[in-house]
Amino acid sequence: MNKILWFRYDLRLENNDSVGGAIKEGNVLPIFIFDEDFLKLETSSSFHVQFIIQSLLELREEFKQKYNTKLNIYYGDTKEIINSLCDKFKIDEIYSTYHFKNKNLQQLDDKIEIICKNNNINWKKFNQFGIQLNNRDGKTWSKNWNSFIAKKIESQQIEASFIEDDYEIDFSTIKTNEINYKDIQKGGRSHALDLLSSFTNSRSTNYQKDMSSPITGEKACSRLSPYITFGNISLKEIFQKVSNSSYQSTQHSRSINSFKKRLAWHCHFIQKFYDQPEIEYTNMNRAYDGLRENSFNENYYEAWKNGNTGYPFVDACMRYLKNKGWINFRMRAMLVSFASYQLWLDWRITSKHLAKFFTDYEPGIHYSQFQMQSGTTGINTIRVYNPVKQSLDQDPHGEFIKKWVPEVSNIPSSLIHEPWNLTFMEQKSYNIEIGKDYALPIIDNKLETKNARDKIWKIKTSSQSKILSRDVLKKHTSSSPNKFKVA
Ligand SMILES: Cc1cc2nc3c(=O)[nH]c(=O)nc-3n(C[C@H](O)[C@H](O)[C@H](O)COP(=O)(O)OP(=O)(O)OC[C@H]3O[C@@H](n4cnc5c(N)ncnc54)[C@H](O)[C@@H]3O)c2cc1C
Repeated sequence: MNKILWFRYDLRLENNDSVGGAIKEGNVLPIFIFDEDFLKLETSSSFHVQFIIQSLLELREEFKQKYNTKLNIYYGDTKEIINSLCDKFKIDEIYSTYHFKNKNLQQLDDKIEIICKNNNINWKKFNQFGIQLNNRDGKTWSKNWNSFIAKKIESQQIEASFIEDDYEIDFSTIKTNEINYKDIQKGGRSHALDLLSSFTNSRSTNYQKDMSSPITGEKACSRLSPYITFGNISLKEIFQKVSNSSYQSTQHSRSINSFKKRLAWHCHFIQKFYDQPEIEYTNMNRAYDGLRENSFNENYYEAWKNGNTGYPFVDACMRYLKNKGWINFRMRAMLVSFASYQLWLDWRITSKHLAKFFTDYEPGIHYSQFQMQSGTTGINTIRVYNPVKQSLDQDPHGEFIKKWVPEVSNIPSSLIHEPWNLTFMEQKSYNIEIGKDYALPIIDNKLETKNARDKIWKIKTSSQSKILSRDVLKKHTSSSPNKFKVA
């Protein structure tokens, strides 16, 4: 029996059911493919490619150390590569892990299914997130998920031998949307394990309290998201490690519970996306169709993208994200809320743009969150973040702003949150001219917040929206994240 073991968003050997299944017997060709079309998508970027390459280098080394074989890495047209490998190595079975990614990748899989069918190849897929694939049943979702996540991790017995292909990839030929990668997280399982250990042992003590600010969140959040996205570590490993550790204070235990809930949300949102993949492109509640489509303001978009809106905290968050490939939840929500409400930009465009900079880009979470923060679900409270309040709450001394928006660094902390209020004399004394050295606010926050609320509220209270909201609720009651109970 000849098999392909196809790594995709599960770049690990441990606690990986497709690896466990494949290595039981037969001859195994372990592969990874950089799909050239996928890398051309507007959501792909060198942030992701860099992270994947680093992960693959570690995985390749693990293959060498553990199994004295190589991981075969390819770049090109996935269909052609799979076709030719199946032909060359007389493949009978393919082992891989389910993914729930962009529409294009789902369509690619449909084509691979046809190749398999035509060649009598059995494609076995394994579930790493406890997603209900068939017989969707909202009532049992959280119970099922709790048993899935707590299931004992079995060690994998190797009985198979490995096949090596003579092809050698040149990573420098891989083409994607090029962004100079700066201070982004490094891919690879060793980094994921280090982060999990430091988070469990100490960093999580004040997680619940410190996660909201970009200053404290950088350390207090687990920072595991890209490792979960690319599968360097399994959710089960993370969940079981934090569950089986002991904590000194009630505060620490509460923090860990709050973290565990988020791991469940991760899967809840992926389930949503699996059930309704159209949310990548269409409003979750179609009563909101036509809301923003015809009023896209390019100048606002450019200012938001480049961190030049004139709101220092918004700009600092955007610049930080573009450097780090990560920002905490609340600041992501604020960036999107500002784009969708105050600037009235269509989430379909802004979501694709930010996907490039989120190293952890995970469509299931991403589009659900974008729609929630843009008011197009019909089932969530309309939450418009006030950028000045967020600035005062999360960066009271202006230290984050000063670091990321150095143009305003001469302004005293008490005045830095609203530089447009500086008098002429103050501007002179702090050696800054607002409107020249740093942008004037591109919109009036109070006015645009009110306009946005009025527009959204009008639809939210319409009978059409109410009827369609019931459908949205019915479809997605796997467990509302807030009601979800983690055992
Ligand atoms: C507009 C918007 C877009 C987002 N896009 C993504 C995305 O593409 N990929 C992504 O992983 N997260 C996304 N998030 C959720 C969240 O911001 C990140 O998961 C979190 O900031 C990652 O950092 P962390 O690993 O330190 O998180 P922690 O706080 O340590 O949480 C641990 C894990 O729980 C999961 N998680 C945390 N918060 C959420 C949440 N609100 N919903 C679902 N799962 C959650 C993630 O897997 C995360 O890694 C988005 C949030 C918003 C508001």
